[in-house]
Amino acid sequence: GAVVGILGGGQLGRMLALAAARLGLRCHVFDPAPDAPAAEVSAHHTCAAFDDAEALRAFGAAVDVVTYEFENIPTAALDLLEGLCAIRPGREALRVSQDRLTEKDWLTGLGLACAPYADVPDRAAFAAALKRVGAPAILKTRRFGYDGKGQMRVTSAEADLPDAPAILEGVVPFEAEISVIGARGPDGSVACFDPGRNVHEGGILRTTTVPAGLPGSVLTDAVIQTGRILNALDYVGVLGVEFFVVQGGLIVNEIAPRVHNSGHWTQDGCTICQFEQHVRAVAGWPLGDGARHSDMVMTNLIGDDVSRVPDLARDPACALHLYGKAEMRAGRKMGHVNRRVGG
Ligand code: ATP
Ligand code: MG
Ligand code: MG
Repeated sequence: GAVVGILGGGQLGRMLALAAARLGLRCHVFDPAPDAPAAEVSAHHTCAAFDDAEALRAFGAAVDVVTYEFENIPTAALDLLEGLCAIRPGREALRVSQDRLTEKDWLTGLGLACAPYADVPDRAAFAAALKRVGAPAILKTRRFGYDGKGQMRVTSAEADLPDAPAILEGVVPFEAEISVIGARGPDGSVACFDPGRNVHEGGILRTTTVPAGLPGSVLTDAVIQTGRILNALDYVGVLGVEFFVVQGGLIVNEIAPRVHNSGHWTQDGCTICQFEQHVRAVAGWPLGDGARHSDMVMTNLIGDDVSRVPDLARDPACALHLYGKAEMRAGRKMGHVNRRVGG
């Protein structure tokens, strides 16, 4: 059977590998950490850095298709893999999403609404940027941010700023946050999961709830916008789109060219989950039916939340997903629990 290469061996890679195994596919994970969560559930693990050209070439030659669990794959690594194996989703999705400024320009060009934003290449550009987007605002590093890292809320031009290329975004007074996990197959077919409602704490996703409890028109619009993004990128695989719901419509917060934390509920709320859907798409299988059969609340187990596991394990409505991380750290995602509600 086909060998699926996965760049990045964190929990997303691990759950991709588990889904691939169920389809009879073998995974080969590339991750510098010897104890990467995906490594122990994959047939092969290349334990090397993303700038190790020799290791990358051998990896590319050993797999049929390469996919990834994070968007910050160095361009040089992709250049090396190009030609050795298919890269799915394709490089355009990475180009767009690796840099918040590029991403917002691209989304705006597609006619989608983003928060007011301005480029802040250096400290000197900050005051004018703040004037343009208005206070309060959020300064975000253009690259490498996740879980709210590299962000700071600013209210005045005197703020003490980090020295990295950044963008400044106006604070959106949202009523709710939702996300759509969408999939597109190599034949151009599109399937989206039900939009979920997300609650963040300290910049980290805490819970996702489906159904989202918002008007059908809003949810349909979110799905349509996700379909437009998938088609415009000629995308193959699963993509997450985060939205702010405001009076009068939707604002796209960001896109992630991969399986997404806010899609974890699909593991126990749908016949085909986001991980299987992604593997199907990148391996050239038909997309599965992602219809939701249960109402769900997904809760991340962050840091010492894992101490709740014995109790959660006794709850018949809970499905536990633990990532096998040896070391617990504050703010670290250790697992999640999908709780079936109602019905
Ligand atoms: P991840 O990739 O892990 O989702 P991230 O580090 O890329 O997170 P963002 O999604 O940009 O971070 O922001 C994290 C959270 O901070 C958002 O989900 C939202 O709750 C809040 N936030 C970010 N930008 C804005 C904004 N412009 N207005 C209001 N809230 C915001
Ligand atoms: Mg992000
Ligand atoms: Mg986000």
